[in-house]
Amino acid sequence: AQVRDLVESKLATIPDFPEPGVVFRDLTPVFADGPAFHALSEALTAPFAGRFDHLAGLEARGFLLAGAASALCGAGVLPIRKAGKLPRAVLREEYDLEYGTAAFEVHEGELPPGSRVLIIDDVLATGGTVEAAAALIERAGWLVAGVSVAIELPALGGRARLRDRFEVSSLLRY
Ligand code: 5GP
Repeated sequence: AQVRDLVESKLATIPDFPEPGVVFRDLTPVFADGPAFHALSEALTAPFAGRFDHLAGLEARGFLLAGAASALCGAGVLPIRKAGKLPRAVLREEYDLEYGTAAFEVHEGELPPGSRVLIIDDVLATGGTVEAAAALIERAGWLVAGVSVAIELPALGGRARLRDRFEVSSLLRY
């Protein structure tokens, strides 16, 4: 509860961004506050202690969280990148955005086969982004250890979409 209160006290909420009707949760003030960022980074991996080998950070805000959590828990990071950024042979997975599609990529063979990978991101909304990341991890021959996010928006259905396949953990829910 202490960690939750600390992170929540720094979180910014912006109505009508990026478009009318959307309430945007902005973690940049949490990143800017050393103790809050530290506490959040620790809280993301704690529920999965002993059950993962690597952290997957989803570009771009997931990179910050996975990187900080990595330094605290000692697990390495798998960057799951937007298409076209990685220089070696990749696997690609497309996913739906509100308008159009986007794609994530990972390097083939980046981790040993069977590695247990915990997916880290800032916000879980519809779950489409996490689903694409999970599909990549599985196609690459690794295992999804779970999904851990700072903020969950339950009305958008992400947990319902993922829960039969993956354990989902969130610090804050709105
Ligand atoms: P989903 O695919 O679950 O619908 O959307 C999740 C993705 O959209 C995440 O990568 C997240 O960064 C971004 N996202 C959706 N809503 C918000 C929000 O209110 N705040 C922030 N920071 N990101 C959001």
